[in-house]
Formats: sequence, C-alpha cells, structure tokens
Amino acid sequence: MSAPFTTRGARPFVLHRGGCHCGAVAYEVMAPAIIEALECNCSICRMSGFLHLIVPRSRFRLLRGETALAEYRFNTGVARHLFCRNCGVKSFYAPRSHPDGWSVNVRCLAPETVAGVEIELFDDNDRDAAQARFAGLAAPD
Ligand SMILES: [Zn+2]
Repeated sequence: MSAPFTTRGARPFVLHRGGCHCGAVAYEVMAPAIIEALECNCSICRMSGFLHLIVPRSRFRLLRGETALAEYRFNTGVARHLFCRNCGVKSFYAPRSHPDGWSVNVRCLAPETVAGVEIELFDDNDRDAAQARFAGLAAPD
C-alpha cells in the first residue's frame, strides 16, 4: 500500500474496500477496476462460492476486525480460512496456493469500484498445473 496509484501490466490499480457482512471486518485492497478472479472447485470453495482475488500482502490492508476473525484449517493445514465470528462470512484468507499473499473474496468488495470481473477456473483436480499457472499473482510488486 506504499503507492496510492500503481499498475500491474497495463491496468491501473484502484482502491477497493471490502469486509464481512456485519462490518466487524473491513479492509482495503489495491487491484485493477476490472478484476481478474479465480473460481476454485475444491471442497470448501465449492461450498462457500468464494471468488478469489489473489494479491501480494503489500496490496492489502486490514482496517479492523483482527480480533473478530476465527480460523479454520483442514487437509494440509496450509490454508488459513478466516471468517468473522459474528456473521460467519469469509471475506479474505491466506490461501494454500499463495501462502505469502492474501486471497480476497470478490463477492465481499463494495461494488462501486468494481468495473468488471473476469473469472478463470483454478482446477483443484489438477492442482499442480493450476498452481503453476497462477503462481505469479501474489508476487511482490
Ligand atoms: Zn462479520
């Protein structure tokens, strides 16, 4: 979050705001107005409908809610699934595919700044290929 305005490729970043349903958790994230999102077909993402915006940690800032977050882990235990204790919404978390970045739930962003969403499949059935294909998304700017 050092620069208020920077670019990735040709698309300028805008400041998106987001958080959980009850408002206990709030954050801001820098990303293009047209968001490149990943839809994952793993067991938990299928159930929750999570839509992933993967960013390096430098582009995400938690504004409030650290103490409102509960954590759920399963399988390898690498991913830290964070949800609001009050409303149950998982608005962002630390994904297994990018443990050094954050995955922000596009469905939890305020719509005003989102000009569009381009969705690609993260195929958990071929996880190594998917991980390789999207490896750069959390690379530091
Ligand atoms: Zn909440």
